[in-house]
Amino acid sequence: MNSISSCDLHIHSYYSDGAMSPAGIVRAAADAGLSAISIADHDTVAGQAEAIEAGGVLGIEIITGIEFSVMEKDLDIHILGYCFDLSGVRLSAVLEDLERGRAERAERIADKLQDLGVPVTFDEIVADAGAGTVGRPHVAKVLLRKGIVAEFQEAFNRFLGYGASCHVPKKVLPLEDVVSIMKESGGVAVWAHPGANIRKRGLVDRIFGCGVEGIEAWHPNHTEEITRLAVREAGRRGLVCTGGSDYHFDEARKAGIGEIDVPYDSVTALRSLASGLSA
Ligand SMILES: [Zn+2]
Ligand SMILES: [Zn+2]
Repeated sequence: MNSISSCDLHIHSYYSDGAMSPAGIVRAAADAGLSAISIADHDTVAGQAEAIEAGGVLGIEIITGIEFSVMEKDLDIHILGYCFDLSGVRLSAVLEDLERGRAERAERIADKLQDLGVPVTFDEIVADAGAGTVGRPHVAKVLLRKGIVAEFQEAFNRFLGYGASCHVPKKVLPLEDVVSIMKESGGVAVWAHPGANIRKRGLVDRIFGCGVEGIEAWHPNHTEEITRLAVREAGRRGLVCTGGSDYHFDEARKAGIGEIDVPYDSVTALRSLASGLSA
């Protein structure tokens, strides 16, 4: 069925762990008939300028975006940032620090793989990442290419996932810091794909108590029930609802660019909450 959606606020480019260039994503968005998108790469804003430029040419509105990870108790929680000013000094310093942490993590994963006799080197992982912020998906792609695993997900189950043989925890920021960096940069923090965690009342209170102002209600991992709960939570607390495909590349595809219905109201609401300069 052809879905009519007007924006996709969660797309990854090759500046994190996606496969496409920002300009390629903007072209795909134009082909899909979208009016606005956000590239929300993990821990980097390297793709934003290219997206804004391509958006100007193709008439697609670009919302600045980023995706951070935080740990709350043992849960890996993702926080999206939108409509922020790209030139913040604190933001740049924090992103540089996270990038160093990612490289160190990849190096430790490579060491662990080699200890198990799996021939994957840090250089191969970095080469796969190219311009992107190096992460576990790049390790998974090297494992896949070398035939060590048969499927992308198998790399996570056997080696990279939480509790697997070569798991190394990611260096993350405290939730409070992510929220304050976004606020300082004039942006809006949004809880990404809450999934079943939406039912954990303590966690929900903690996240929104910290100043997170939105919730990603529409996401390919969400059941109708989870989306309904997210929209209800937003109504109760006066939060912005956002959504997107979370598209990375075809091997890990759950939805293509523009395939998740997201109303343009999300963009209007984000813009009215954002206090700073935005694209
Ligand atoms: Zn995420
Ligand atoms: Zn994502």
